[in-house]
Amino acid sequence: LAQVVAPLNWLGTLYRVIQTNLIDTDKLMQLLQEESDVRDVDGAKDLVVTEGVIEFRDVVFAYGPGQNNALNGVSFRIDPRSSCALVGESGAGKSSILRLLYRFYDIQSGAILIDGQDISQVTQASLRRAIGVVPQEPSLFNMDVKHNILYGDVNASDEAVEAAARAAQIWDRILSFPDGLATVVGERGVRLSGGEKQRVAIARTFLKNPKILLLDEATSALDSATEHALQTALSTLMNGRSSLTIAHRLSTIVASDNIVVLDAGRVVESGSHAELVQRNGLYASMWRAQINDAKDAEALAEQKEAE
Ligand code: ADP
Ligand code: MG
Repeated sequence: LAQVVAPLNWLGTLYRVIQTNLIDTDKLMQLLQEESDVRDVDGAKDLVVTEGVIEFRDVVFAYGPGQNNALNGVSFRIDPRSSCALVGESGAGKSSILRLLYRFYDIQSGAILIDGQDISQVTQASLRRAIGVVPQEPSLFNMDVKHNILYGDVNASDEAVEAAARAAQIWDRILSFPDGLATVVGERGVRLSGGEKQRVAIARTFLKNPKILLLDEATSALDSATEHALQTALSTLMNGRSSLTIAHRLSTIVASDNIVVLDAGRVVESGSHAELVQRNGLYASMWRAQINDAKDAEALAEQKEAE
């Protein structure tokens, strides 16, 4: 019996790792391969999330000995159930901040707190249970779409899966598949677009129902119908939760309760969209550049339509 049980246990463990971690196969493989130095401290307690206040206090972080600091004393705070967007040029430190909040790495100095609890002192399992992640390019498993959504909560009922898919604006698409929820997606099944994959990831996150969200927006342009569906799904998901978003598109930046502007691992400005435009600093110049890009794209689209 032990011979049968052992592999089943192992699968169960792997399953829970998938369930409680980034829920993203590529990332999972990285996770299993990379030798992580992150350990629970002796007697670590579970994180208890009440309000969902997130605080970075003078965080200094480098990826390894002898490497330059990716973050050079970053401080900011996310209020309960509010949205915070991270903006900055490539290499500014946005992804590092998300990875650190998920505790893929430990920091050199400073502190990261959730509702006053230092995340280095709580169990990693409880930390990751409390946090939902919508990656930029979610991977799907070569399974039916129902099981792809169930990774958010393996015990969820069919009704709950449908409700999550509806909230994520992907239900109608699922109904268009040959076998509905039983349709295999991924490389060996129905191929989904980037925006659709993100909505499957959003459906998973609705099932997981975390108090804290980490979102990495897709960088590539989406058609306007997809963009609209995605924004509706995201704003429903973000409602009533604290969120930290790596923002690439204008629409979400404008709506954020707070925007943290990063440059070379430092916070150079923060505030609402209106405040930052008024300030006429780095954010205002990025904003103007994006508006011009959008205008160019619009002009190009109109030109194409005319042809
Ligand atoms: P952003 O997401 O804003 O583009 P990152 O947080 O990815 O910025 O990167 C911040 C800095 O850390 C950059 O200098 C980048 O080269 C470095 N960096 C990012 N990921 C790694 C890694 N896995 N190993 C070593 N250095 C990294
Ligand atoms: Mg990045």
